Amino acid sequence: MIELPEATTIARQISTELIGKRVADGNRGNSPHKFAFYSDRTPEDYAAILQGKTMGEATVNGPLILASLEPDHMLILGGGGERIVYHRSDATLPKKHQLLMHFTDDTTLTVTVQGWGSAFLLHKSEVARHPFINLRNPSPLSDDFTLDYFQGLFSALEPDDARSCKFFIISKPGVLGMGNGCLQDILWHAKIHPRRRAVDLGEAEQRALYTAIRETLQKMVEGGGRDGDYDLFNRPGGYQRILYSKSVGQPCPECSTPIEKAAYLGGAIYYCPKCQV
Ligand SMILES: [Zn+2]
Repeated sequence: MIELPEATTIARQISTELIGKRVADGNRGNSPHKFAFYSDRTPEDYAAILQGKTMGEATVNGPLILASLEPDHMLILGGGGERIVYHRSDATLPKKHQLLMHFTDDTTLTVTVQGWGSAFLLHKSEVARHPFINLRNPSPLSDDFTLDYFQGLFSALEPDDARSCKFFIISKPGVLGMGNGCLQDILWHAKIHPRRRAVDLGEAEQRALYTAIRETLQKMVEGGGRDGDYDLFNRPGGYQRILYSKSVGQPCPECSTPIEKAAYLGGAIYYCPKCQV
């Protein structure tokens, strides 16, 4: 799944490698997918809009990649299980795809949705009010994401609030761009159990969680994303995850207790039963 580190990596690569490329032709892909989300435009509209556009800079909003199609449109990708891949040769094109842009230099960008994913095509005037765009919360790697801001989220909780730390971080109020993937290592670093009630975290634990969010996300970005996900050139990310499916039963790097797994809130959680309380 594309979360903030992967979106940041792919947006950076689009901005450096694809910028200036002109779209010879493009389409909504060759294989309809039930959970591929598009703008309210027909396949014919997509083809007409994409043709002749020029790739501009790409930026990030949480887990989303906002790729400018000059002069006046924007492609919004990410946030789900998209594989966004640039091909220098037709030999690597996927058989099925849900978006394709063929450039005038005979290279191609494809988006293939796994699970669910999006490929919105908007006029730039529509971007700010798109329901997936979040302009309320600061990026956790920005200067606006201060310890004060983060602790303020805890202060807003009523004493009987039942939200767990997992829900608090990835849903409401949420840390922008973080999903169930990035969550695992961050809670491990902070020594907090995913099921723990957010309202019960003490001041020191809030600080530890804040630091774990900033430092771990920064490492994930510097590594070019996590090792279970892929960049624009179909290469796995360089950040080696500590907690994921293959860690189950393996010794915790800190205390050697076997890592456990549980199904919780629509996605598996991995944790050290000793370190994370
Ligand atoms: Zn441990």
